[in-house]
Amino acid sequence: MAEKVEKVVIIGSGPAGWTAAIYASRAALEPLVFEGAITEENRMSGTLPLGQLALTTEVENYPGFPAGNMEGYLDTSIAEGRRSTMAPHQKEGVSGPELMELMRQQAANFGTRIVTDDIVDVDFSTRPFKLKSLEGQQVAAHAVIIATGARANYLGLPSEDNFKNRGVSACAVCDGALPRFRNKPLVVVGGGDSAVEEADYLSKFGSIVYMVHRRDALRASKIMQDRALKNKKIEVLWNTVVDEVLGDDKTGVTGVRIVSTVGEGTRDVEATGMFCAIGHTPNTTFLKGKLEMNEKGYLKWTKAQRTYTSVEGVFAAGDVADDYYRQAVTAAGTGCMAALDAERWLATQGI
Ligand code: NAP
Repeated sequence: MAEKVEKVVIIGSGPAGWTAAIYASRAALEPLVFEGAITEENRMSGTLPLGQLALTTEVENYPGFPAGNMEGYLDTSIAEGRRSTMAPHQKEGVSGPELMELMRQQAANFGTRIVTDDIVDVDFSTRPFKLKSLEGQQVAAHAVIIATGARANYLGLPSEDNFKNRGVSACAVCDGALPRFRNKPLVVVGGGDSAVEEADYLSKFGSIVYMVHRRDALRASKIMQDRALKNKKIEVLWNTVVDEVLGDDKTGVTGVRIVSTVGEGTRDVEATGMFCAIGHTPNTTFLKGKLEMNEKGYLKWTKAQRTYTSVEGVFAAGDVADDYYRQAVTAAGTGCMAALDAERWLATQGI
């Protein structure tokens, strides 16, 4: 029997992946989505199914979800078995996990098939393309849409690695409410919008939040800067970097050693948690040498205003190809573009 060849396989399950799936399924391309595997490694690196939005709380800037109670709507739109995966209903607007469940459900409603597994290897050298999953599944596909997104960066210190899950985190929203952080001093590393957002969020739990920033000016937007500078529980430690996470096996993190970037020496800051907010890395390791990337590992779009990659028939959408806008709505937009590009390209191939 001839091997089954999928018309389009979508890798990734953030807004780009689900939007691509909604459009591809409505175009009768019967998409197969690899939404990612539920593994400890993925949990640690922030690459579980549903992507980065599943690690956030309120989403206030996704059009179509103004503040309001989502409860009734979610109960009638999400399949019963999936409702428990979401945090309790938000009273004001939609949350990240809720938005992702809604998108996943919408894709499933149009017949998208979903596999809870990672694609770990690809062969784009011949057509149909070959994909291999973590669990060993082999799939052949005429077209592939990469929507694997990006993940948070860490400083890369051995002491930081040692205390992951015991005070070191890159997601305040996921971990900030844990008892170890309540009414205790906390540290956020970074000076961008994410750092301010994390510090602001953590200030609801910690006694004080120190933002450790390597320069004398924040990178964050004006509105976010104001939010940080006006918050009496946030103190910025200008011109400093963390050079060691302090702690012990029993208590986890007890503080950080910071070193001045302007020659003012080192000092220890007491804290029960350190949250990294120093940017992101695209999830493209499995594509190294297979598709063209920029110097930071983001996939390159090779045709203006299109989601084409360096391999014909392979398209990229969302944060995996975008280190500039990086918004849920832009990811969804490029997911739509990738599905339309794939549909039109497949038509030129007679598929
Ligand atoms: P970002 O803008 O790239 O900021 C990263 C911050 O981390 C910078 O302040 C950078 O310092 C610092 N940093 C990077 N590597 C470091 C290292 N090894 N050691 C110490 N500090 C380091 O990243 P982001 O804050 O995640 O934001 C990314 C994009 O998402 C931006 O476009 C942002 O506007 C957007 N965003 C928006 C919102 C919002 O509007 N609500 C929220 C979050 C993110 P330098 O400043 O010295 O480079």
